[in-house]
Amino acid sequence: MKIAILPGDGIGTEIVAEAVKVLNVLDLKFETETALVGGAAYEAHGHPLPESTLKLAKESDAILFGAVGDWKYDKLDRPLRPEQAILGLRKNLGLFANFRPAICYEQLVGASSLKPELIAGLDILIIRELTGDIYFGQPRGRRTAVDGHFPGAEEAFDTMRYSRPEVERIAHVAFQAARKRSKRVTSVDKANVLETFQFWKDIMIEVGQQYPDVELDHMYVDNAAMQLVKAPKKFDVVVTGNMFGDILSDEAAMLTGSIGMLPSASLNSSNQGLYEPSHGSAPDIAGKGIANPLATILSAAMMLRFSLNQAEAADRIESAVQSVLAAGLRTVDIYSEGTTKVSTREMGDAVVAAITKTTIKG
Ligand code: NAD
Repeated sequence: MKIAILPGDGIGTEIVAEAVKVLNVLDLKFETETALVGGAAYEAHGHPLPESTLKLAKESDAILFGAVGDWKYDKLDRPLRPEQAILGLRKNLGLFANFRPAICYEQLVGASSLKPELIAGLDILIIRELTGDIYFGQPRGRRTAVDGHFPGAEEAFDTMRYSRPEVERIAHVAFQAARKRSKRVTSVDKANVLETFQFWKDIMIEVGQQYPDVELDHMYVDNAAMQLVKAPKKFDVVVTGNMFGDILSDEAAMLTGSIGMLPSASLNSSNQGLYEPSHGSAPDIAGKGIANPLATILSAAMMLRFSLNQAEAADRIESAVQSVLAAGLRTVDIYSEGTTKVSTREMGDAVVAAITKTTIKG
């Protein structure tokens, strides 16, 4: 097994170091190789996704990714900005299915901005299609309008598009994921207004016929955004397109209290995956040693489960995280009165200690 370690920028290096520490204590056989990505790679090689980093990612079974970006790169040409590295990795590795579980840990119920009764026990899975939609559709650009409300004016445009195979494969991923959970899929669309999403909905219904044991319902994205804060526990698996998924998965993330707790996985059809926390590089707290490393540590657990076939090791990481939270340890983003504030490194050390304790007992 080979794991590419791509820490990236900002808090990326701090949180990935903790996840690597946790992986190393599990006594599994794997090889790791670290490479630069994002702004760090731009500084060293003039490109956010250098050829050498892409090559390493392609030849690895899985990629553990921190985060990329910093406001200081906002003025660079778009292809050179750090965030392009993620888009490049998704495209080159064919990572089309993004899994974002939003689980509310019992000990963190109070950290959510919603009332505890709405959030306690929350366990939903947002599946976002990653390679299509308006993010990649061509043509796009700027031009002089020839029609519309202001002919002759400067305008910008993007193209929303999905092909049948793209929708079919993400539909299968969602139905198969639901089979392992409570067998319910909500497909989120905007079929009332957008041709692309009427097509999406039609295909969801067609594919759904192959999964008669899974209940399928449909929701417009505006209603889904509302229901996520009104009654989030109504959902089980939510499947949606690239843009709606981008927004809804962040909304779902915040339901659980902190974006610092939420892992994610992006998989291709051979289960090769990129695993990263749901948050960004947090330049506002970078270098202070206070970032929450748990989303990255939990991403490493997803990596063991999905790409490296090590479900037992993944369970051990997840139980260790639970026990550290139960012991009252909190980074600043999830801190509340009566708990113990710890640094990024102390949180990583506590997870390692919890794993080591179970190893000795076991
Ligand atoms: P962000 O997720 O980096 O930060 C949002 C807020 O959450 C900040 O206040 C930050 O301090 C806090 N936060 C994030 N992660 C945390 C953690 N682990 N522990 C404690 N607090 C945490 O989003 P942003 O500020 O909008 O973007 C910052 C940079 O990150 C931008 O350059 C953006 O483009 C980039 N970004 C990268 C990714 C990625 O690498 N996948 C994703 C989103 C944003």
